[in-house]
Amino acid sequence: MFKRNTSTRIATSGLALGLVAGLALTGGSTWVSTAYAEEAAELSPTKARPRDTYYPNTEDLAPDEMRVIACGTGMPTTRMKQAAACFLVELGNGDKFLFDAGSGSAERISALQIPYNYLDKIFVGHLHSDHFGAVPEYWIGGALMGRNQPLRIWGPSGRIPELGTAAAMDAMQKMFLWDITGRVGNVDPRGYKLEVNEFDYKGENQVVYDENGVVIRSFPAIHSIDGAVSYSLEWNGLKFVFGSDTFPNQWFNKYAKDADLAIHECFIAVPDIVNKLGFTPESALLVGTQIHTAPEAFGKVMSEVKPRMAIAYHFFKDFDTTAQVYKRIRKTYDGPLSLAEDFMVWNVTKDGIRERMAVVEESTWSPPTTRPNIAPSKDDRAKFAKMKGPPAEAIGYSDFIVSGKWNVDDVLRPIYQEASEAVGREFPYPEK
Ligand SMILES: [Zn+2]
Ligand SMILES: [Zn+2]
Repeated sequence: MFKRNTSTRIATSGLALGLVAGLALTGGSTWVSTAYAEEAAELSPTKARPRDTYYPNTEDLAPDEMRVIACGTGMPTTRMKQAAACFLVELGNGDKFLFDAGSGSAERISALQIPYNYLDKIFVGHLHSDHFGAVPEYWIGGALMGRNQPLRIWGPSGRIPELGTAAAMDAMQKMFLWDITGRVGNVDPRGYKLEVNEFDYKGENQVVYDENGVVIRSFPAIHSIDGAVSYSLEWNGLKFVFGSDTFPNQWFNKYAKDADLAIHECFIAVPDIVNKLGFTPESALLVGTQIHTAPEAFGKVMSEVKPRMAIAYHFFKDFDTTAQVYKRIRKTYDGPLSLAEDFMVWNVTKDGIRERMAVVEESTWSPPTTRPNIAPSKDDRAKFAKMKGPPAEAIGYSDFIVSGKWNVDDVLRPIYQEASEAVGREFPYPEK
């Protein structure tokens, strides 16, 4: 057996090791070389070898294991390299959870090729676009890619009902009424239902989810205006904490304590907010230290929380920004640290935390669905009109639009015949 697995990662003593080594910014070095001694005997010019990279859908998740994948680590200003906030948690009992669904993250999730019925639970920390902007893509795109059951959303209330998650989801459904109306009658309708669970943003360590041995709690965060929260997930003796966005706060210090993975925002250093984002120094100081968590403050939080692994995200991780963030964190924290980027993966068990990068395919299609789609029914539109849709007469084409159709029935009818012959049942051509 290979022992290449560096799963029991030596906790990084950043001040001592990180600064000396310099190359191990996130710190995962060990002093034990496995490259020669343990593998040499089994090297072969024809046999496959274990890899240090995570390739989705090539590894089983052990019954006691948690796998977390960063599917968005960036900022509200968009870029190719990093989507906005999104972390996928996969558990050995089969459950999967998304924490935040920031803009651009749906593409990352699709690259993992996970059946969408497994991706039906999203926990939103606050209602900034970089934390829930991709919800419509998981909702509508997810349904088109095989989620034929409702999408379940959890999120905080606001100081007034209009500022809460339920109002946002209601408004989203109104905004996409044209979209949904046009799909009814053409595709399996079951994935377009939403289940929205709004809870009190002031709840301190309140249970917001308790199913199948998984308990998720929320606690208040301090960010922008009232109504931001952080989450903890506990399962099988493992604890995952996701801060979403927050100024350092006493609740995180208290309820994230002793987490296995503690994810907390860490903004880019103030000088880079001026240099790279073009903010005035006044604005950069406010945004970089008061609305968000400065790297120095992130370090202070983690020194208090003492997780098995501290994960910093929410900064653009480039060759010329990373050192600044790292140096400033290390002024106040010398424990285990990951500076997250998209597709960073953590496998967590009681024995160890293994950190790797995933390598994904870009040209992906819909993953398999866990249960067959049902064919659309002629009644779907009438049912939709009755439930919440526009009046039945507003669904479909008006006589005016129909009058503009160019008749290409002669080339379309044979496609129906072809399908009928191939599948062995009759597909009647839709007559006017
Ligand atoms: Zn935010
Ligand atoms: Zn944010």
